[in-house]
Amino acid sequence: MSVVTRFAPSPTGYLHIGGARTALFNWLYARHHGGRMLLRIEDTDRERSTKGAIDAILDGLSWLGLDWDGDVVFQFARAARHREVAEGLLAAGRAYHCYASAEELAQMRETARAEGRAPRYDGRWRDRDPSEAPANVKPVIRLRAPTEGETTVDDAVQGRVTWANRDLDDLVLLRSDGTPTYMLAVVVDDHDMGVTQVIRGDDHLTNAARQSQIFQALGWDVPAMAHIPLIHGADGAKLSKRHGALGVDAYRDLGYLPSALRNYLVRLGWSHGDQEVFSTAEMIAAFDLKAVGRSAARFDFAKLSNLNGLYIRASADADLVAAIEAILPGVGPARGLDAPLSDDLRDKLTLAMPGLKERAKTLIELLDSAYYLYAARPLQPDDKARALLSQEGRARIAAVLPALEALPDWSAAATEGAVRAHAEAAGCKLGQVAQPLRAALTGRTTSPPLFDVMAVLGRTESLARLGDQTADPPAA
Ligand code: GLU
Repeated sequence: MSVVTRFAPSPTGYLHIGGARTALFNWLYARHHGGRMLLRIEDTDRERSTKGAIDAILDGLSWLGLDWDGDVVFQFARAARHREVAEGLLAAGRAYHCYASAEELAQMRETARAEGRAPRYDGRWRDRDPSEAPANVKPVIRLRAPTEGETTVDDAVQGRVTWANRDLDDLVLLRSDGTPTYMLAVVVDDHDMGVTQVIRGDDHLTNAARQSQIFQALGWDVPAMAHIPLIHGADGAKLSKRHGALGVDAYRDLGYLPSALRNYLVRLGWSHGDQEVFSTAEMIAAFDLKAVGRSAARFDFAKLSNLNGLYIRASADADLVAAIEAILPGVGPARGLDAPLSDDLRDKLTLAMPGLKERAKTLIELLDSAYYLYAARPLQPDDKARALLSQEGRARIAAVLPALEALPDWSAAATEGAVRAHAEAAGCKLGQVAQPLRAALTGRTTSPPLFDVMAVLGRTESLARLGDQTADPPAA
């Protein structure tokens, strides 16, 4: 039987990190088995489902490189089919009309609470004669669920999980206004879409029992199940925004590469020996549900950043420039940069990239370390650079400036020669001159090699930046 998985997000918010991992696991499982991954948008909550959220989910998946097979299925559009199935169950006696009023249901909940039981529908219309139905009340349709025995889910991650049927009440399939419930819709869609393997968060584990009962009432095969533990923060607490519970688009703007995020996500809750870095082909070849752990995975920004740094260093220079350009609409304005880059700046960035990418862990760090390439005069030094531009630092710049101005040739070798000769003559270490020069030229305390920076900036811009530091009163 060919494997069919599905990712079934509710479009009530962005594609968050947990959803992205669920999608990745479904995708890997399908690709590993040469099967298909389908995408179903569960948009039945009309109040909370938005077009913006649907777009964010589709964009986020595409950005992560997780493609789906066939057309996107929209659950709400299938409501007539869901209704038809509920009515079929009714006709077959596997479901029944329930006329309990809102007050009666509230009373049942109240009694259960008072007796310390979980709220549960008491089955009062299960065997009642329909002739007793109150006039003018539109009934719901409830599943005639088994009252004895057990319902068992053999879960690929959680193992065998069993519920006593007396603890599972007769759930509503169709509301009195004729709209299907979520529980019914998922079962009908999974069946109609030919889903063989469900992979989703373990917050859906109890739903699996209820859904199994509906599958069985319909005489349909229950898909294999895998409920994966949720993601927690690095401190073990439930994931919050601070921990990384952000939309995938936020990771893009934080400067993470999709390949790195995907690699990070695959290791969240799944392992393959102690291998940390996986190419796409390696992930697909190695992925299986047996190696998904049962405890909550911990999301750790520091680990993600380290991995991202690794991917940055392994990326081609031109690809990194293109990746930076792709996030410029979001992150450029705060830095006075517009997309697209000028040809001149793009060339400079590409040339500087081998030096820049050695240190950066994100595209943002890369962009910030390239500040000297696009900064407008006078530069805005960061705090550390400002500290180097003290009176003493500025005096060092003023002292070396005439030697630089006098150079006939402005190559890295020539400026280096001049600065070294000056430091020697002045009886100080090269660093004592080079550090303030770097601060004045780049506004930062780290940069690619100083004399390369001078060569890339050129004589006019370099001397002007140095002049800015010697002409003004000392930096505060
Ligand atoms: N729509 C559900 C969610 O976003 C997932 C349902 C499922 O995977 O069965 O949590």
